[in-house]
Amino acid sequence: MSELNLQEYMSAGVERIVKEAVRATFSNPRETVFMGKFALASSKATRIRKANEKAGLHVPAFLLASITSSCNLHCAGCYSRANHATLDCEPLKQLTAAEWLRIFKEAEELGISFIFLLGGEPMLRRDVIEAAGTMPNILFPIFTNGTFIDEKYYQLFDKCRNLVPVVSIEGNREETDARRGAGVYDRLIANMEDFRSRGLIYGASVTVTKKIWPGSPRTNISIFSLLTDAGHYSLWNISR
Ligand code: SF4
Repeated sequence: MSELNLQEYMSAGVERIVKEAVRATFSNPRETVFMGKFALASSKATRIRKANEKAGLHVPAFLLASITSSCNLHCAGCYSRANHATLDCEPLKQLTAAEWLRIFKEAEELGISFIFLLGGEPMLRRDVIEAAGTMPNILFPIFTNGTFIDEKYYQLFDKCRNLVPVVSIEGNREETDARRGAGVYDRLIANMEDFRSRGLIYGASVTVTKKIWPGSPRTNISIFSLLTDAGHYSLWNISR
């Protein structure tokens, strides 16, 4: 696939995600209003990227921002720890919230409307997440282990609909706790129930391994049942 085709493919992917997100929020007027406005902003961003491409500047559709190298968990198979990008010691040098905000603004000017916040555990950087909340034209999926989501975060997600937590879960209690640590599954289920009762959009990220995905999707239907039962507005990311 040529670079330009890839660019078109990614842009079409963004538009498809936005359309599906708008449809998924029809039963929640506040979320629908935000998603409707965001859909317009995202279309504008696509036009800016296309204009940049024509002028010879390639701008990707998504930005991945690892906003901290700290994490409280030691999940089996964590690529970030394997690469020594996540460490147990205090980070020596991190960008400040103001520096991240400047990067987010530059990304918006270049035509990026999706920025994935990653870590380590990104919820440890409340200052950066609050800064992201001030940029309604960008959707920020926050890939989180869920253990730091508290009342203050729920209030922030309610106020800033562009912040979308995406919780990492492997399936049932046994599978999730075996990879992430005892008690994590119950915490994630409680989070999802809270998101649902507060009408907040959220997502789930499942890392597929031979152990939790040994056969066809049909044999693993329990994962999907779990996620769909837990919320009306879930977005899924499945990786392996
Ligand atoms: S929560 Fe994420 S960053 Fe932390 S150890 Fe687990 S996989 Fe790695």
